[in-house]
Amino acid sequence: NPRLHERHALLTGAGGGIGMAVAEAFAREGARCTVVDLPAEPSPAFQAMNEATGGRLHYCSADVTRPGEVDALLALAEAQNGIVDVLFNNAAIFDMAPLLDSDEAMFDRLFAVNVKAMFFVMQKVLARMVAAQRSGSVINLSSQAGRRGEALVSHYCATKAAVISYTQSAALAMAPHGIRVNAIAPGVIDTPMWGHVDALFARYEQLPLGEKKRRVGEAVPLGRMGRPHDLTGAAVFLASDESAYITAQTLNVDGGSVMS
Ligand code: NAD
Repeated sequence: NPRLHERHALLTGAGGGIGMAVAEAFAREGARCTVVDLPAEPSPAFQAMNEATGGRLHYCSADVTRPGEVDALLALAEAQNGIVDVLFNNAAIFDMAPLLDSDEAMFDRLFAVNVKAMFFVMQKVLARMVAAQRSGSVINLSSQAGRRGEALVSHYCATKAAVISYTQSAALAMAPHGIRVNAIAPGVIDTPMWGHVDALFARYEQLPLGEKKRRVGEAVPLGRMGRPHDLTGAAVFLASDESAYITAQTLNVDGGSVMS
């Protein structure tokens, strides 16, 4: 039986990377998906994937840092597919610099997307679930970086630690309504974001391009970087009723890199 039969899932930052793989997995489990990302049109890869999964994905262009765009997006999503049952709160950006060079502008950019937008998208979706007296599941994307600091990555690490904290508070606030809130903390996953990460490490650690990726993959106990599809099992599990007694948790999906 499909585990997300006729659920409405909203996924942010899901035009590519981890989000797109999870949208595909949700659709294969019977969900109708509203897929949000910045580009005006979805990529050809996304369109091909949508056709292959029976056209269950509705692409919407929106910038989640703009509250007006999020309100318009939610209104459209509800008109198309009803109240959101599952939120995969995934949009984020990465940047890094040595601590003494990481300035206020970088801090503001990272916190605006990774923390502020993530919190307000969650709040808006939860308000609709509560008003409609619906149960639901929210999954916020944290990171291994939220579990452990890194000398060159202080702002991004702090944003991902904040995601864990908001997840815990929201889970407690929503428990009386039968709504669950969890987080996933991926390890190193080979996505468009990691192309950017690799290039930045190459600059700051004077490495050839691709070398940081090779090293981080080797350091994973399971011996390789993750692929976007390595996240889909955890995402479907947390979205579905199989995890009905699990809330306020952050699940590491990282090949054994982090143990708490
Ligand atoms: P990605 O860059 O491939 O995908 C992120 C998506 O978010 C992009 O498509 C981007 O366009 C979108 N986005 C950014 N700002 C937005 C905005 N303001 N409004 C709407 N969409 C916006 O990254 P990914 O690797 O697939 O990462 C997905 C999530 O997983 C992120 O939260 C990331 O921090 C987290 N994560 C990734 C890794 C990794 O190694 N790739 C590791 C740990 C955590």
